[in-house]
Amino acid sequence: MISVEQHLERILASVEPLRPSRLRLLDAQGCVLAEDIEALVDLPGFDNSAMDGYAVGQEEVMGADREHPVYLDVVGDIAAGDTRRITLPPGRTYRIMTGAPVPDGAEAIVPVEDTDGGVDVVAIRDEPLPGRHIRRTGDDVRRGDIVARCGTRLGPRQLAVIAAAGHGDVVVIPPPRVVVISTGDELVEPGILPGLGQVVDSNSLMLVAAVRELGALPYRVSGVADDAETFLRTLQSQLVRADAIITTGGVSMGAFDVVKEGLSRLGTVHFDQVAMQPGKPQGFGTIGRDDTPVFTLPGNPVSALVSFEAFVAPALRVMAGRSAREGELVRATVTDGWTSPAGKVQYARVYLTRTPTRHQVRLAGAQGSHILGGLAEANALAVVPADVTEVCVGDVLPCLPIGPVEDAREEQGGPA
Ligand code: AMP
Ligand code: MG
Repeated sequence: MISVEQHLERILASVEPLRPSRLRLLDAQGCVLAEDIEALVDLPGFDNSAMDGYAVGQEEVMGADREHPVYLDVVGDIAAGDTRRITLPPGRTYRIMTGAPVPDGAEAIVPVEDTDGGVDVVAIRDEPLPGRHIRRTGDDVRRGDIVARCGTRLGPRQLAVIAAAGHGDVVVIPPPRVVVISTGDELVEPGILPGLGQVVDSNSLMLVAAVRELGALPYRVSGVADDAETFLRTLQSQLVRADAIITTGGVSMGAFDVVKEGLSRLGTVHFDQVAMQPGKPQGFGTIGRDDTPVFTLPGNPVSALVSFEAFVAPALRVMAGRSAREGELVRATVTDGWTSPAGKVQYARVYLTRTPTRHQVRLAGAQGSHILGGLAEANALAVVPADVTEVCVGDVLPCLPIGPVEDAREEQGGPA
């Protein structure tokens, strides 16, 4: 039996960030930049108005106030998107809209609110400070500035500044393509009511969703028959579109555990008992010309999910150029004790809640590795160390959130 840490270390030692590629901006959402991004243009690209108002020369409006308005002829309108190069004639004004280019010779914008809004002649009722309400060329970003650094993960705000700076695509670590393969003669497709001996293939659905939630690109291959040849053939045929492969089922000690049987023949995938509950039977290795990583997860749904969180998610993040662990484990106080097996790390399905001063945690339903209902209700996995057999009220446990964490309600307060 090996420890959780040993298994994870082995996995992380054999995965690395994918080769960078150029993607359209929206396809790069969530990806890590593999280059510094330089601004190709100034931002703003031209002096423009920050207000709807009137573009004026400083001289003309000197001394204007409510009692002594200055009257100016309005030459015309300048709207946002106006591409004319315009010069302001002395003693006159243009009506100008927010974002429109400021005409040459204009020294300030008088907001509509400080005028009578005139169309042919306008009464200016306030003297603006020089430069007032003009957004100057390059006062946000200068051409040649780095607007996003290599290693930055691209969210909405980073994509916005990169686009504004003149780029339509970027070089990033692409999202890993992950093929999820479920095995088992008993499996039927979601939406089909299973007959005696049949089970809906919920694992491949769950794992595809988990892969997608992590920002990777899943492909689903469901219900491969319990036959080693068929399984190996399926696996080989999927390599072309896989940066990683996840299988579920067929790795325990049964007579039809074909994942183990088939992959053991290749010699590059190793099967171990990992000292954890659930999720003891684990396999990992690489196959094919490109040494594609293969994670063979147990078939029991809870075991599959726990294994994904403990081993697959960290590896996929590394392949995407991110940190293996994002977000700290949350330390939470136990409000209702439970038991834990000796010598194994327990990943207990729990409710994690927040009070003003701390996080607290209690079990979410029954804990069998086939219990999907409890898994769906849980919002965290509490990690109970291998040497602990009794989790007591008041103990503090590290928890891995797997869903949104809400405020504790009064009655869940529990002992301090
Ligand atoms: P196995 O690891 O193949 O022996 O499967 C262990 C248990 O998990 C069995 O009860 C299977 O029916 C169940 N199981 C296996 N694969 C899936 C799946 N894709 N979806 C839901 N349950 C599954
Ligand atoms: Mg099976």
